[in-house]
Amino acid sequence: DTIGASLDRTVAAWPDREALVDVPSGRRWTYAEFGEQVEKLASALLNSGVTEGDRVGIWAVNCPEWVFTQYATARIGAIMVNINPAYRTHEVEYVLKQSGVRLLIASLAHRTSDYRAMAEEVRGRCPGLREVVYIGDPSWDALVARATPNPARPELSCDDPVNIQYTSGTTGFPKGATLSHHNILNNGYFVGELIAYSEQDRVCVPVPFYHCFGMVMGNLAATSHGACIVIPAPSFDPAATLRAVQQERCTSLYGVPTMFIAELNLPDFASYDLTSLRTGIMAGSPCPVEVMKRVVAEMHMEQVSICYGMTETSPVSLQTRMEDDLEHRTGTVGRVLPHIEVKVVDPATGVTVPRGASGELCTRGYSVMLGYWDEPEKTAEAIDRGRWMHTGDLAVMRDDGYVEIVGRIKDMIIRGGENVYPREIEEFLHGHPKVADVQVVGVPHERYGEEVLACVIPRDPADPLTLDELRSFCDGRLAHYKVPSRLELLETFPMTVSGKVRKIELRERFTTG
Ligand code: ATP
Ligand code: MG
Repeated sequence: DTIGASLDRTVAAWPDREALVDVPSGRRWTYAEFGEQVEKLASALLNSGVTEGDRVGIWAVNCPEWVFTQYATARIGAIMVNINPAYRTHEVEYVLKQSGVRLLIASLAHRTSDYRAMAEEVRGRCPGLREVVYIGDPSWDALVARATPNPARPELSCDDPVNIQYTSGTTGFPKGATLSHHNILNNGYFVGELIAYSEQDRVCVPVPFYHCFGMVMGNLAATSHGACIVIPAPSFDPAATLRAVQQERCTSLYGVPTMFIAELNLPDFASYDLTSLRTGIMAGSPCPVEVMKRVVAEMHMEQVSICYGMTETSPVSLQTRMEDDLEHRTGTVGRVLPHIEVKVVDPATGVTVPRGASGELCTRGYSVMLGYWDEPEKTAEAIDRGRWMHTGDLAVMRDDGYVEIVGRIKDMIIRGGENVYPREIEEFLHGHPKVADVQVVGVPHERYGEEVLACVIPRDPADPLTLDELRSFCDGRLAHYKVPSRLELLETFPMTVSGKVRKIELRERFTTG
């Protein structure tokens, strides 16, 4: 089905239920009103000369206009290009040119980002870019004013490209995944099914819309079930997130693990009423067991789900089920979604390994992207001739079909010939009382090839962990080659906007000589 057709069904079924709430501005829309806004913007875009297949860029922090743009572009067969709000001129120019954006919709400014100044600067260097519209500015009103009643609706196919989403850029330069209606609408729908979304649910989305977590697992999962999208803040703010959950009686909350950690560590955490929560999704990077336990016990998210996915696969391919026990919900990323296949192969030979053995995870099914935009060679490297997407992640499939993610192939540390998986050591160090958050990376070492470095954010900066304490904590409990030989204390980790730690940057920073 197309995204527009799905929205029409929801509007017809639940016209009076709330569709979208923007907590910072206090604005709210029912599905009938939301449908009207989308229709208006779609007509305005058509009347601005945007035709089928044209790229419309969105470079904005989370706001209602982002969501309107998502559905309006889908409705007219345009291809929305999600642009990371952390980008600066050099990067935005690359994306605008690489994807050939014709019309750009941007925020005016947020925190230290002056989007207007940056967009005006690069505008002249992007010949395909005809128009730039700023949200909350007269240019936005002028755009919407071009709407005419009963716009012609182009005939669309569910296999048409609807979206170019860039990967997080955790391991290098982001790649633009081209996705169809069929890809992302189905994925959003099934992710919502597995946490039993209905028109009763209110979904708090503090993760960025620009990333698949926000726009697919958030927006599409919600609207395909008649649930309400709640925007707590333009960009992640732990206190604003919990305030929004309390005020809007949200039933579901999303986040990457670092976001949940920040919320749980708020000094006034205990003062928020989070009893309305029942479910939510933690995804994007490994979820420490200790964090998961607290989310279930202290945030009342008994039915929280862990998802595994990647931008290139719409994104989710594995998800825990609500009825899973805590062990499955922390030790694994769940099992395969309906209508998708996964397998674990030996990266060298491509042969499927036995259950219980580790190898590269591969995915096949409706969720695999159409390809990287305008990069056929990269597409051919990622998707093989049997249509399997090679994820670059190491995984183990258990006998019961549940999958453990061992780590990224690129992050694996090889110390003196032994394979060391950072995830395992991070998990272990989270158990130390002086550790608020930890990342483990491999850095070059003359004798061992690589050595194990622990980067720790101390719980109390006045009484930080020492290397001796860390080593004696590990002694006798971890094999000697896994015990970190170096410790760096940090205040924060270098992050992508989607909330992932850029290990590549930690590695570079602490590579000596
Ligand atoms: P880039 O491809 O640009 O380096 P990225 O891979 O981080 O960045 P995304 O598509 O946002 O970009 O993220 C997909 C990756 O996130 C997966 O390949 C996997 O490594 C990681 N990931 C996602 N979910 C989980 C999870 N539940 N547990 C562990 N890792 C996860
Ligand atoms: Mg990736």
